[in-house]
Amino acid sequence: MQRIFIANWKMNMSVAEMETYFQEFSKNSDFDNAEVVVCPPMPLLSLAAQHCAELGIALGAQNVFWEEAGAFTGEVSPLLLKDLGVQYVLIGHSERRQYFGETDQYVGRKVKAAIKAGLRPVVCVGESLIELRTNRTEDVIEEQISAVMRGLDPIEARRVIIAYEPVWAIGSGMTPTGEQVKEVALQIRKLMGDLFSLKIARDIKILYGGSVSPDNVDEFTASYVLHGALVGNASLDANKFSSLIQNGGGIRTASNQQEDTTPLHEGDFA
Ligand code: PEP
Repeated sequence: MQRIFIANWKMNMSVAEMETYFQEFSKNSDFDNAEVVVCPPMPLLSLAAQHCAELGIALGAQNVFWEEAGAFTGEVSPLLLKDLGVQYVLIGHSERRQYFGETDQYVGRKVKAAIKAGLRPVVCVGESLIELRTNRTEDVIEEQISAVMRGLDPIEARRVIIAYEPVWAIGSGMTPTGEQVKEVALQIRKLMGDLFSLKIARDIKILYGGSVSPDNVDEFTASYVLHGALVGNASLDANKFSSLIQNGGGIRTASNQQEDTTPLHEGDFA
């Protein structure tokens, strides 16, 4: 199964730090069965695009606006993102919902505009701690998914990737169990089946995000109902991100394996 691992750098990384990151990441960046996506802050997109092209990995953005051009100070057009070589865009991240008033309605408009521009939207959904404690996870997921998907036709819906990110798990070190994530992923597939078709329910790509690390990633990627992970903190260190991809099922391309420099001894061949 082709897996997807998305690095969300959030508001981190300077130009110099990014250069070092890609230099380090290039030592272990080739995976046969994984699409690796890096989402840097907007001003780094152009520079990052060159590195991503060299490494054969994909470029993502952390946000997008729904209009193509006009008097929208501070916003970024989906057409410009496409122009810069961006392929994926995070939409509806809980930090955008929490700090910038992003509603389901805004998320829906952004998703539609991103698809129209030829970008692949990664729609983030997930319950807060209070919603978890009051057993509202299923309702929240249904509300968030339906609000976005209702505005799409089946061809558009196929382009969407869903990232299930419980808000309480983001940056907290706490995670749900693999079983709990699997249950939500199955609910999302059922919703997609009700809204579109069985085929879309089966094919839609679903990721897990929230305190994923090299140590716990396999719990979320081992199941056939999930396709990979959206990673915040652990993606800021190139080696950690690379190990996370490998532990999550990414198979390193033979030519990219770090050379084993351990000296050979006669006894090794006995
Ligand atoms: C995120 O913000 O999308 C995220 C998953 O963050 P972290 O991995 O740091 O929890």
